[in-house]
Amino acid sequence: MSKLADKVAIVTGSGRGIGKAIAAALQSEGAKIVISDINEEACKETSEELSKSGEVIAVACNVTDTASIEKMVAAVMEKWGRIDVLVNNAGITRDDLFMRMSEDKWQAVIDTNLTSAFKVTKPVLKVMSKQRSGRIVNIASTTGVHGNFGQCNYAAAKAGLIGFTKTIALEYASRQITSNAVAPGFIDTPMTAALGEENIKKYLERIPLGRMGTPEDIAAAVVFFAAYAPYVTGTVLEVNGGLYT
Ligand code: NAP
Repeated sequence: MSKLADKVAIVTGSGRGIGKAIAAALQSEGAKIVISDINEEACKETSEELSKSGEVIAVACNVTDTASIEKMVAAVMEKWGRIDVLVNNAGITRDDLFMRMSEDKWQAVIDTNLTSAFKVTKPVLKVMSKQRSGRIVNIASTTGVHGNFGQCNYAAAKAGLIGFTKTIALEYASRQITSNAVAPGFIDTPMTAALGEENIKKYLERIPLGRMGTPEDIAAAVVFFAAYAPYVTGTVLEVNGGLYT
C-alpha cells in the first residue's frame, strides 16, 4: 500500500542517522523525498542511495540559516510544486553540566534544535496552508519531557519544540494540517556513539526493553503521524523502550 503516493516529504538532517531512516521509511510509503542536510557529502550520498527506490532530490541546507532554508523550499517547489510532509529532524548536542555550560553551547543548541523549527516551518506552512493539507512532525527527545543530566540546553530546546508543536497544531487545524512530535529515547546513531562505551552501558541498564532504539524504530513513529493519523494532532509520542514509564 502506498499511503504517501504523489506526496512530497522534506526531512531535515537526513544525510545520516535518524533522518536518513525517516526518509527511507517515508519513501517506502511512496513519498517523493527531499534529502536535506548541512553536510553536503552525506546529503549527496544518501540521496544517491535512495534514488534507487524512488524519486529523490538532494538539497544541502543549514537549518539555522533563513536564506539557505528559503533556497531549499524554492528548489522543492520548482521540482514538485507541493510539500506534504515536513520532518524537523536536524539537531545537535553540546552537553555540559549547568555550572560549566557556556553561552556558546547554550545558543548553538537553541539555534539548531529549536529556532530552526520556527525558521523551516514558516515557509513550508505557507505552502501547506494553500494546499489545505499537510503533516508536520518534529523530532523532540525524552530529554525535553523529563530533563537529563548535562543537557540543560538540549532539554530546553526540545521542551520548546514540544510547545511549538502543540501551538502549530492549534493554529493550523482549521486547514487540516497536523503537527505532532516524536520523542526518541536512546537511539543508536553517530550522535550517541560519541558518548562512549561506558556511558552507553549505563543507559542500557535503565531501558526495560534492554536495547538501544534503532533509527527505524523512530522512523515507524514518524510514518504513523505522516501517513496514518489524520485525526491525531498536538501529541508527543515517546519512543524509548520503556525508559521513564
Ligand atoms: P546525527 O546522527 O548527528 O544526525 C544529525 C544530522 O543532522 C547530521 O547529518 C548533521 O550533520 C545534521 N545537522 C546538524 N546540524 C545541522 C544544521 N544546522 N542544518 C542541517 N543539518 C544539520 O543525529 P541523530 O541521532 O540522527 O539525531 C536526529 C534527531 O533526533 C536530532 O534532532 C536529535 O536531537 C534527535 N534525537 C536523537 C536521539 C538519539 O539517541 N540519537 C535521541 C533523542 C532525540 P553533521 O554530520 O554535519 O553534523
